Amino acid sequence: MGIALIVHGGAGDIADNDVAPYREGVRVAAKIGWNILAQGGSALDAVQAAIISMEEDPAFDAGYGSYLNRDGQVEMDASFMDGRTLDAGAVAGVQRIKNPIVLARRVLESEHTFLIAHGAERFATEKGMALVDEKEMRAPNAIAKWNECVKNPPPAPLAKHAPVKGTVGCVAIDQSGNIAAGTSTGGMNFKRVGRVGDSPLIGAGTYADNLLGGASATGWGEAITRVVLSKYAVDALANNRHPNEAARDAVQMLASRVGGTAGVILVDRSGRIGWAFNTPRMAYAYLAPDGLVVASC
Ligand code: ASP
Repeated sequence: MGIALIVHGGAGDIADNDVAPYREGVRVAAKIGWNILAQGGSALDAVQAAIISMEEDPAFDAGYGSYLNRDGQVEMDASFMDGRTLDAGAVAGVQRIKNPIVLARRVLESEHTFLIAHGAERFATEKGMALVDEKEMRAPNAIAKWNECVKNPPPAPLAKHAPVKGTVGCVAIDQSGNIAAGTSTGGMNFKRVGRVGDSPLIGAGTYADNLLGGASATGWGEAITRVVLSKYAVDALANNRHPNEAARDAVQMLASRVGGTAGVILVDRSGRIGWAFNTPRMAYAYLAPDGLVVASC
């Protein structure tokens, strides 16, 4: 069975001058995930490692580098799905977790599917994960963006404006034909305290089913949620449709039904990859069959 992996680093209005760090960040993440698959590792481990790499890169709106909420604090969301078992795990509104995708994985392995805020952090300590000081998660570039918003509050509704830097996600298929998908985000810049978008919602931000494929979405969360975009994109793979066609179908449906702006990445059960977006840019990277990384933004 052929392995395949694709990552995204967010869909939005990325300025020409800002492209380089995103392209490099997704390239590195894709390679890290691919190396795990190539050594016979699981899709779950590959997705987790690729996302950790982007959570620790302040270029992205996930983990360290997450956008700050109106109170100037991080509130992070993440989700993870195993296409073999349909087990799913998600966390929302966590502030003291260095790698929210790891906590989502712990939830996936537990009897639950979704834990939020303090309860999720308490669960993390029960699982032996260290809590960090929330202030340590605030990256200088996120603080600078927050200061701009304090001086010039963005027009409401904020969520209609595509983010400038993005959420991260990864979808992979391993040598056993198992598919996994994950997504991690700090949400929208200057979001209302307690606001949760699509990223931690199974079906909206993330979906995986070995029978069809896996997906991760990025973009305007409120719109993505209302059409359950990732599940739609996976279902669109039925009848052996190519993932590029399924991704385009999903983004067009989002635009026509709710006027949404977003991007989605897909891997199907045959190891074909696809993506589509209707924002000015989306950072993404995948491995070509010869093992070379193709990164774009
Ligand atoms: N979808 C994310 C959210 O709404 C944002 C993003 O993808 O950049 O929280």
